[in-house]
Amino acid sequence: MTRSAAFYAQAQQLADQIVGWRRDIHMHPELGFQEQRTARLVADTLAEFGIEAQTGVGKTGVVGYLGEGRPVIGIRADMDALPIDEENDVPYRSQTPGVMHACGHDAHTAILLGVAKMLSEMPDRPPGQVRFLFQPSEENSDEDDKSGATRMIEDGALEGVDAVIALHVASDLPAGVITVEDGYSTANEDSFQVVLTGTGGHGAMPHQAIDPTFILAQVLNALQGIRSRRVDPTKAAALSIGEIHAGKASNVIPSQVYISGTMRSFDDGTRQQLRDELARTLMIARVLGGDFTLRIRPGYPSNFNDPGTAALMRASTVAMIGEDGVAVPEKMMGAEDFAFMTRKAPGAMFMLGAAVGDFSRPHHTPVFNIDESTLPLGAAVLADVTCQLLTDKANGKATKS
Ligand SMILES: [Zn+2]
Ligand SMILES: [Zn+2]
Repeated sequence: MTRSAAFYAQAQQLADQIVGWRRDIHMHPELGFQEQRTARLVADTLAEFGIEAQTGVGKTGVVGYLGEGRPVIGIRADMDALPIDEENDVPYRSQTPGVMHACGHDAHTAILLGVAKMLSEMPDRPPGQVRFLFQPSEENSDEDDKSGATRMIEDGALEGVDAVIALHVASDLPAGVITVEDGYSTANEDSFQVVLTGTGGHGAMPHQAIDPTFILAQVLNALQGIRSRRVDPTKAAALSIGEIHAGKASNVIPSQVYISGTMRSFDDGTRQQLRDELARTLMIARVLGGDFTLRIRPGYPSNFNDPGTAALMRASTVAMIGEDGVAVPEKMMGAEDFAFMTRKAPGAMFMLGAAVGDFSRPHHTPVFNIDESTLPLGAAVLADVTCQLLTDKANGKATKS
């Protein structure tokens, strides 16, 4: 039996346990940087496997250490839930009103515990260290605009790591299928807040006012031109306005307009260009006699999947369930803070198909759910790729991007 097949068989035997952990965590969801119970469950379970664990990493994260020396392979799972009231009528429904695992991070944590069990029981595990990175707060940043991955990195969790891998369940991808991009898989994300100022005045006497809603009309047009006229058409970019607020009465010209939006890109050059072009476009307000303030809040960077690591993930899946187990990914411009980790060490994240029947359970909604039967595949692929990376990195075989 090949190593891939052995992991797959072993993971199937662990299915009940993995699902049990997932449901336990699902019933007790915790928001970002509040993952106390989840962290305890993780640390206690790792201890059962004889894996030394450090708690309080990146505030509420847990790092497990299996083996020592180099190479070091990190495997990351996020643990946080979302401020959503669960509507699913299932026995393992969230017991905490207003909080729900609506992105599948409960599954990621359970899967990584399964990986830890398999690797800790493996008699011929390749030399080196496996580092289990149970990360808090992927969905949200703290008061200093830092999310869980950044906090973990600041606390040294990625120190000496030669490669880092992860998965994300996908409720819009059939169960029993994975996808993994070569190269960019998630986008740079920046949000922005703008205040356009004029003077306000009487609606009947617009000539005596500087009307910020008129300025807004010119600015909106020009903002849409950034994507179409300024950015290289071969580069991906998105700029969307999400909020516009102005005025209170039909006959009063307001003195201010507030707008906010989001900008997405893959490469860092385009990210900077969007920021610069946004600031330049807003100069229209000054030309028209008004003014503006701009605040750009940098979000997560884009994730770049190392093509060599992505190839290992595909090969491992094919070895377990055949060619049909790997689908072609569709590009999208979401954001994921795992990207901070792949900027510290090469790595990749694959999407684990987990659609329930009719694909009607989207992420971040009160009816989100996954097909749990696919969880063992996720654990088996992570364990298998980790072993391959331990061997490859020891042999100096670069999975270079
Ligand atoms: Zn999410
Ligand atoms: Zn997520």
